[in-house]
Amino acid sequence: MLRDLPELIYPLELARAGRSLRGRVTLARMHRLQPLLVEGDSQGVEVDLWFGPNDSGHLGIQGRAWADLNLICQRCLKTVPFRAESEVRLDLVSAEDGQAHPSGPMASGLDPLMVEEGEAVALSDIIEDELLLVLPMASMHPEGACRISRKYLETEFPQDKRENPFAVLVVDKPMHSNHEE
Ligand SMILES: [Zn+2]
Repeated sequence: MLRDLPELIYPLELARAGRSLRGRVTLARMHRLQPLLVEGDSQGVEVDLWFGPNDSGHLGIQGRAWADLNLICQRCLKTVPFRAESEVRLDLVSAEDGQAHPSGPMASGLDPLMVEEGEAVALSDIIEDELLLVLPMASMHPEGACRISRKYLETEFPQDKRENPFAVLVVDKPMHSNHEE
């Protein structure tokens, strides 16, 4: 059984102590992600994170976060199951670091996580950012797999009729009859 992780963490302290966090983060507090999910989706996100110095010696967070999400299809509004998996690679950066070494965090190629000395950060915010990066631009069933009626599809895409290549023949017809006169 996975344990629920604390809502607030102190990233710099965890990184100095070389701590790991393994467990579950609830989706309930992820207010930017929630509107994309089918209501009542409560599995949560599994995370396996390690806090400590990265390759360049800078304190950071590394690990993985993954969740089986039920997204809403943008075409038929029914459920689309999606496995979201994120590689977490963050540099812990304070505003002071940013001023002293403006190129520092960028040079490491890792995303910066702004955090000040003694500051607590919502773990769900960090994980939500990671998940939003790996979601599809628009969640949809594969082409033709939505379970909606044909009638609905025809009213939804009226431009199909205008693009009918045979429409031009209808325009040509009167000209032909003029020639024959
Ligand atoms: Zn669909």
